[in-house]
Amino acid sequence: MDDLKFGTRNKRGDWAPAQDLDVAPFWKWPVSLPKMFDYVVGYVWPWNLFIMATTVLWWYFVVPDMATMKTIGWAWILKLLAANWIGNFLFYGFIELRYYRARVQERRFKYNGKFPAEQPSDVFLFRSQNIDNFLRSFFVSIPIGTAIEVGLLWAFANGLTPMVTWQAHPVYLIVLTLLAPIAHEVHFFFIHRAIHWGPLYKWVHSVHHNSVNPSPWSSMSMHPVESTLYFGVAFWVLAVPSHPFIAVYFFHLAAFGAVVGHIGFDRLEVTGDVAQPSHAYAHYLHHKYFEVNYCDNGFFPLDKWFGTWHDGSSEGDRRMQERFAKKKARLNVG
Ligand SMILES: [Zn+2]
Ligand SMILES: [Zn+2]
Repeated sequence: MDDLKFGTRNKRGDWAPAQDLDVAPFWKWPVSLPKMFDYVVGYVWPWNLFIMATTVLWWYFVVPDMATMKTIGWAWILKLLAANWIGNFLFYGFIELRYYRARVQERRFKYNGKFPAEQPSDVFLFRSQNIDNFLRSFFVSIPIGTAIEVGLLWAFANGLTPMVTWQAHPVYLIVLTLLAPIAHEVHFFFIHRAIHWGPLYKWVHSVHHNSVNPSPWSSMSMHPVESTLYFGVAFWVLAVPSHPFIAVYFFHLAAFGAVVGHIGFDRLEVTGDVAQPSHAYAHYLHHKYFEVNYCDNGFFPLDKWFGTWHDGSSEGDRRMQERFAKKKARLNVG
């Protein structure tokens, strides 16, 4: 597939889409129904539908009944942790293997012209981004996320959190389920913005940003504090009457959804002339420029509202440079 029909490649080999990023169509005037329809399709397919499917799978085959979860028992906790490990290993491993090892589409649609394996660096354990990111995802982020998930399931089973049932309030719970990905985006924006504050950035978030050229395993490569804040999105079930299924869904949104933005390719080729948009560009720009696009290009244009939006255009670049210059001047005065 000719990726130059969809974008340009510079002398360094970095590819950029011709189409600048745009905020969700609900915030634009005049309203465009076709764009809204496209947005809703992109919202559901492929990521959120896949994540919903894994949640349902876990709910029926991994998560035990409420009576079992009343007590903290190693059997069900280890089963859940093992399933989370295996599920994530298969999912991230598949993407890594297909696009970064077998390189099925070589460098077509790849934002950064280099593969991380071509750039060993001392910032990574064993000088390998891949091994470093894998170890942090596996032995830091997934266990922490699972611990939060276990705590919340135990709290539901013991009646410590406000719970409603599907029988009594099906419509309410469907609406909550549909809103969960948006809650995840908003939560991520604010915690992410917070850990970019100087001292927290240095202590916590710089671990994630070691990967300037992110690849699938970078998704959950985090400092333990960041993993706790990130998977902490599930704590929202304590504030809003909900259901343990939603707590599991939050874990899956955070664990599997993290791949969006770290895939490194703008489109994933399906057949010779069909390619699936990956929705990765906004967060790729975040890894490239650090202080832009704290949120993926989500339902609420939070970056636009807070002045940190970069749409990939030269105008976006100019706005960013202007903001950086102002910040520098402010720091010099202070
Ligand atoms: Zn990232
Ligand atoms: Zn960041």
